[in-house]
Amino acid sequence: MSTIIIEGNPKFKKSVTDPGQTLEIAEFFCDTIQGENFIGWPAAFLRVQHCTQSCIFCDTTEIWRHGNPYSFDELFDLMDQADLQRKFRKGQRLVLTGGSPVQQQDKLIFFLNELILRYGFKPYIEIENEATLMPKEGLIELIDCWNNSPKLKNSYNPRDFRYQPDILKKLASLKNSWFKFVVSCEEDWEEIKKDFLDTHLIIESQIVLMPLGASRSELEKYRELVLDIAIRENVRYSTREHIVLWDKKTGV
Ligand code: SF4
Repeated sequence: MSTIIIEGNPKFKKSVTDPGQTLEIAEFFCDTIQGENFIGWPAAFLRVQHCTQSCIFCDTTEIWRHGNPYSFDELFDLMDQADLQRKFRKGQRLVLTGGSPVQQQDKLIFFLNELILRYGFKPYIEIENEATLMPKEGLIELIDCWNNSPKLKNSYNPRDFRYQPDILKKLASLKNSWFKFVVSCEEDWEEIKKDFLDTHLIIESQIVLMPLGASRSELEKYRELVLDIAIRENVRYSTREHIVLWDKKTGV
């Protein structure tokens, strides 16, 4: 059972004493698992508020649209209460998710460096990234695993918003950088080939295909098709294990 540190979708706005050192946080929970890409690793999820995209299939919009500013000290206090230093040492991963973590990268760089100083070591850090903003070197140095998820036409975001070749190229050059695509039909694969592979922005071994699915039933609907495409094209497949396990429940 996960431990909730900050509950998603709060109905109030809290005030902070030092707006300079704050992160806009939508929810924070630990003692769960990573559900996508490197599935099964014990994980703590820090979900930031706001996103650059507005995907039609987004299953966390109602979480990341809300949130509050938390001072670094408040976050450290909450993390201490959940015994996260010990859990990180034992191998629980910190997953920065959203919304768009890179949108708050300046503050995240500051926050993560303070966390490392406080804890005396760096936990393994993954980032979920919609791949539309250029990451700064300070952030790149801190991230162990980039779970990039560029959006396709099926997200219904305008192309100029969701497709950023220069940023994709930079992300593809990073160590341990993956590109998860939400797929529901053959046309989606054709688009990946045309816009990402034929343009040499990313390479096949960085691709992870994930069935569209904000619910267990939706995931089941597309699973077989996406699995078939992945096997046929020799690229990786990932389910969304948190959906398989907990369906639409959030904060788990
Ligand atoms: S990029 Fe991710 S978090 Fe943002 S709207 Fe799309 S699915 Fe939701």
